[in-house]
Amino acid sequence: MKTIILGAGYAGLAVATKLKPHPDLDVTLVEQNPYHTFETRLHEAAAHNTKVTVPLAPLLRGTGVKLDLAVITEVNLDTREVKTKDGPTYQYDTLVVGLGSVTNFYRIPGLAENAAELKELKDADEIFDYVNRVYDAGYVGNRDIVVGGAGLTGVELVTELAQRNESLSKARGIPPFKIYLVEAGPAILPVIDVALRAKAEKVLRDYGIEILTGNRLMQATPTSVTVQTADGQQRIIEAGKIIWTGGIQARDIVKAQNTEKGPGGRIVVDAELRIPAYPEVFVVGDMSLALNQQGKPVPTTAQHAGQQGRLTGDNIMRMVRGEALQPYVPSTLGEFVSLGGLMAVGWMKLPWNQKLALTGGLAHVMKRASEWRWRASIE
Ligand SMILES: Cc1cc2nc3c(=O)[nH]c(=O)nc-3n(C[C@H](O)[C@H](O)[C@H](O)COP(=O)(O)OP(=O)(O)OC[C@H]3O[C@@H](n4cnc5c(N)ncnc54)[C@H](O)[C@@H]3O)c2cc1C
Repeated sequence: MKTIILGAGYAGLAVATKLKPHPDLDVTLVEQNPYHTFETRLHEAAAHNTKVTVPLAPLLRGTGVKLDLAVITEVNLDTREVKTKDGPTYQYDTLVVGLGSVTNFYRIPGLAENAAELKELKDADEIFDYVNRVYDAGYVGNRDIVVGGAGLTGVELVTELAQRNESLSKARGIPPFKIYLVEAGPAILPVIDVALRAKAEKVLRDYGIEILTGNRLMQATPTSVTVQTADGQQRIIEAGKIIWTGGIQARDIVKAQNTEKGPGGRIVVDAELRIPAYPEVFVVGDMSLALNQQGKPVPTTAQHAGQQGRLTGDNIMRMVRGEALQPYVPSTLGEFVSLGGLMAVGWMKLPWNQKLALTGGLAHVMKRASEWRWRASIE
């Protein structure tokens, strides 16, 4: 069975590392980078240059999976072809699509052209270099940063940046720059409960971050954003750097006559994570629209991408053994938001569907534990 896995992110890599050599299985993993990126830690790389990648080749030892480095340009489900830039065209019996998501700029004028994002290592490097640059003694111009979007990524990013700002300011004797967090919705971190949110907000304010909830970003230029304030006024905020973390959408690379897409361009899949009209194609991770037990879309998180990948890896082994596939049963084990240094807030699942809210060092340890679990599962 010729099987191609597209993407070595949380979903694709989990598929690959679940596989074992089998005489009837010929698997190639196609990925543009020679490494896996711990995307959930990109905010740390952006502020502190933390290493957030791991080479792929050693992780595939013992799996029987070949690694091809190539940029995929088109996935055609009707001709069963995967095209790459300056590389081979692949044909397959079974395909796993796990190419993740891209930033959604919602066609806000000037935003895509002028805002940095935080989706890949190069984005983190760009932000890290900016912060270093504005602390050069000879730097002239506005040094402030506006981050648009107060979800998980935006909040984790501003807190890490605030920490770095504080320490560089002390070390160099230069005043800190200002950080604005702009959010159209009424609150930061809409996914966590009110009490935890209030704690997170206090941490942000203690860092001196200006939180602008209820402020819709209307336009961006290279040096400013215009927001519509809660009372309908327009306010211009000048900045040296604009970063947009306000939304994602599934990578739009699959061509097919008979796919159905849901919110965010995610591809609708069945209980086994296959496209109903193309049962030889699995879609996993941020590109996939799987439903939970309540019929609601499963969140686009690393946690769920990993679960989907592991199940799909097991299901591919079942296919070659002629066994029935198992359905996807999503489970959210907890959600943690890091708030810089050893601070975090979040909750973990207890037996009987109880939730335990955690803040501070313990929440930080739980957040780290989920990252260690992921690492252990692929190594
Ligand atoms: C800053 C940040 C913090 C986050 N924090 C958390 C968190 O705390 N908890 C959590 O659960 N989730 C978190 N997330 C979300 C999580 O990272 C994503 O949901 C997860 O990465 C999705 O996994 P995936 O496998 O679908 O895609 P990805 O992990 O993005 O992997 C996609 C892979 O496809 C490759 N690829 C893409 N296009 C091509 C191409 N054309 N050719 C070849 N290869 C290609 C990419 O290089 C990448 O390796 C965070 C995200 C960000 C950005």
